[in-house]
Amino acid sequence: MKRTLSILGSSGSIGRQTLKVAEVCGHEVAAITVNKSVGLAEAQARQFRPKLVVAVDEASAADLRVRLADSNIKVLSGQEGLLEAAALPEADTVVTAIVGVAGLRPTLAAIDCGKRIALANKETLVCAGELVMARAKEKGAEIVPVDSEHSAIFQCLQGCHNRGEVKRLIITASGGPFYGKSSKDLSLVTREQALKHPNWAMGEKITIDSATLMNKGLEFIEAMRLYAMPPERIQIVVHRESIVHSLVEFEDGAILAQLGSADMCLPIQYALTWPERTEGPAKPLDLLSCPPLTFQKPDPEIFRCLGLALECAKRGGTSTAILNGANEAAVALFLEGRIMFLDIARLVRKALEQVPVLDGPSLEDIFEADHAARRAVYNAVR
Ligand code: MG
Repeated sequence: MKRTLSILGSSGSIGRQTLKVAEVCGHEVAAITVNKSVGLAEAQARQFRPKLVVAVDEASAADLRVRLADSNIKVLSGQEGLLEAAALPEADTVVTAIVGVAGLRPTLAAIDCGKRIALANKETLVCAGELVMARAKEKGAEIVPVDSEHSAIFQCLQGCHNRGEVKRLIITASGGPFYGKSSKDLSLVTREQALKHPNWAMGEKITIDSATLMNKGLEFIEAMRLYAMPPERIQIVVHRESIVHSLVEFEDGAILAQLGSADMCLPIQYALTWPERTEGPAKPLDLLSCPPLTFQKPDPEIFRCLGLALECAKRGGTSTAILNGANEAAVALFLEGRIMFLDIARLVRKALEQVPVLDGPSLEDIFEADHAARRAVYNAVR
């Protein structure tokens, strides 16, 4: 089935791979959005001829308007532009590939239009999962995950007509570049070492989250929201080879798994074509050349970000928004070279201690928790 896409965040890793899938599989592109990457946005616009291109940054949008003056492509800027791309009538599917809580409002805008959401922005469900899932149900918007682990679970659940038969979701974790290291080793980690992921090529924020294992914590919360599962029925296992992307255990003891090469094109494509499967650009997996598959326990005491995320998963309310906001701020500081690797977890914990948690939050409560968490992190390093 051919889809017409609006890709929010087309210059990032997921956005660029979505365009690769669109090119190979023949999906239309109605809108693309970037923050400041005007050169790439121009090239993408010339190749895919969308109706709308958005640069969130105003100056970049002005530049893009000049660059695309010879075309009839509309160029918009700011949050309004992002929301217009999310709600564009021509698009039936919105790929939410923006990093961070910034993806929340556009995702809701797309849901309100009843579009299929190819969800690549995990922070949306981490911060406001209950609200987002309830809104999607109300508006009849399908949410299909792009995150490889959640796509694996989604695929394993096809044909399961009674969710009561699901005993456990098992999320795999590569363990990142520092698996097996001691807290002392971690205290000396540099930005460059943290940005070298062993298996996946991804954007900077998620690569750091993978190194701290915060990514796995966020994915744990994402899985709770997507599949309405309590925390005690989700397990994380470290699987260094990144071949088994996640698993579902059923009441009778059967465990189904999805295997594949570490190539995001497959989960992206499945989110677009589900329930159908088509040929695509993903690299096939050759079982005969796979290394032995291993599974081990993660250590949330050494990887404190994971421990904090699991505590917030149990606590609920705005705690997950505080966790996420503090983490976004702390990771930005780490990438700027202003704090050490272990300071990320230390600052997130500090924000969780300082910002009060509200239960049953509104969207405004969630944004306020996010802001308060960021303030707590910035105040702690001033
Ligand atoms: Mg993932």
